[in-house]
Amino acid sequence: MARYAYVNGRYVRHTDAVVHIEDRGYQFADGVYDVCEVARGFIVDQTRHLDRLGRSLSELRIDWPVHRNVLELVLREMVRRNRITDGMIYIQVTRGVAPRDHVFPHPSTRPSLVVTVKRLDPAIGEERAAEGIRVITVPENRWERVDIKSTGLLPNVLAKQKAKEFGASEAWFVDPDGTVKEGSSTNAWIVTWDGKLVTRPADSGILRGVTRTTLIELANKLGLEVEERPFTVEEAKAAKEAFITAATTIVMPVVEIDDEPVANGHPGTTALALRREFFDIAEKVSAC
Ligand code: PLP
Repeated sequence: MARYAYVNGRYVRHTDAVVHIEDRGYQFADGVYDVCEVARGFIVDQTRHLDRLGRSLSELRIDWPVHRNVLELVLREMVRRNRITDGMIYIQVTRGVAPRDHVFPHPSTRPSLVVTVKRLDPAIGEERAAEGIRVITVPENRWERVDIKSTGLLPNVLAKQKAKEFGASEAWFVDPDGTVKEGSSTNAWIVTWDGKLVTRPADSGILRGVTRTTLIELANKLGLEVEERPFTVEEAKAAKEAFITAATTIVMPVVEIDDEPVANGHPGTTALALRREFFDIAEKVSAC
């Protein structure tokens, strides 16, 4: 377990880290978060993650809790103090602490900032990628603003739990027209039989994954065609490959959807190649 957490300006022992009971994140999920991967001692795609954090904050009219440069220093310091080489950084900002009332608190209320880190074993991710994962599908039941990385994740929590109970690793939200939106914590992709990468457009209805954006860049570099369009569950089951993307998951092959194999039921070669190449193209900020 990590030794230190950062809470509102202080590095505190993880076991002693607390926020106030009237924090609006706790009472209303009135806050946003972002997650960066740490790989081989580098913070991966930090610029894109902090850009997205800024966008989430601005959509909810929450101020930056500290200057962005200060937050960058905190991220580095958290990785350093906790001696993380591979793992993840979790950043959460809420509208702050105020007597419970739905309307925004007084403008002088300071947003709360919490940063935690977690060590992850890269070998486990590699083993999962070599086997591929199973996904289930669930009806879309989230609000329309899933483009904001809000801490209000109850539908995602319930979907992921359902996946676990079915022996799967992820649940894909599906619209009434049968098209796949995204996973509970990942973006969804397929590879067509003529080698095109397909993923839903991120203008609305899904989170614009940072891994998704970087992967599109990688695909372009490798000369792979990317089609941003919706695809159905049936199309995914009949596709050459399927995979999911997220920070820490990177690119993870999907070998089964709702108990039916994707192609021959083995991880796809395109997904595995993209996984291998990802780190080379991603931005790497040294945490030392
Ligand atoms: N979609 C959802 C709903 C997510 O929660 C996440 C990550 O947490 C993603 C997609 C993938 O985003 P990223 O690649 O930035 O981790």
